[in-house]
Amino acid sequence: MNDTESKGREIVRTDVNKLLELLNKAFADEWLAYYQYWVGAKVIKGPMRRAVVSELEEHAGDEHKHAGMLAERIMQLGGTPILKPEEWYKLANCGYDAPKDPSVRAVVEQNVKGERCAIDVYQRLLDTTRDKDEVTSKIVLEILDDEVEHEADLQTILEDIDILKKM
Ligand code: FE
Ligand code: FE
Ligand code: MG
Repeated sequence: MNDTESKGREIVRTDVNKLLELLNKAFADEWLAYYQYWVGAKVIKGPMRRAVVSELEEHAGDEHKHAGMLAERIMQLGGTPILKPEEWYKLANCGYDAPKDPSVRAVVEQNVKGERCAIDVYQRLLDTTRDKDEVTSKIVLEILDDEVEHEADLQTILEDIDILKKM
């Protein structure tokens, strides 16, 4: 094993280059999700705005953290995280949904859609890495756990809006 190879990469029992591609696609998703939450929190208008803004900001922070976790793993496996933001659009699985309608319901619904896509992405990554790359698997599970929580938090907001409307 020479200096550019690593034991950490060698122990992975799946196609590492293919895995690096999948991790970079998820990395692109995280940056777009981060921005969608971040800018959504700036433009949003409507009932319960304060509470919703703090939830959106918290989720933005989590997506940013996920991007960091993926970048670190990509580096460990000998890859390079996407260097040009223009590549985010090309590689992302879930795309970017601009919050053109700033109403609370519209912004939260867009983000629910994004979370459902993210949950699918990480479930597939978990299936790909299970019993083959435990280190990546653990990171992916940690992220998946957050995305499931994000979806549930946003659904609670939508339920609260419906209750408010009926009052
Ligand atoms: Fe995320
Ligand atoms: Fe999320
Ligand atoms: Mg939350």
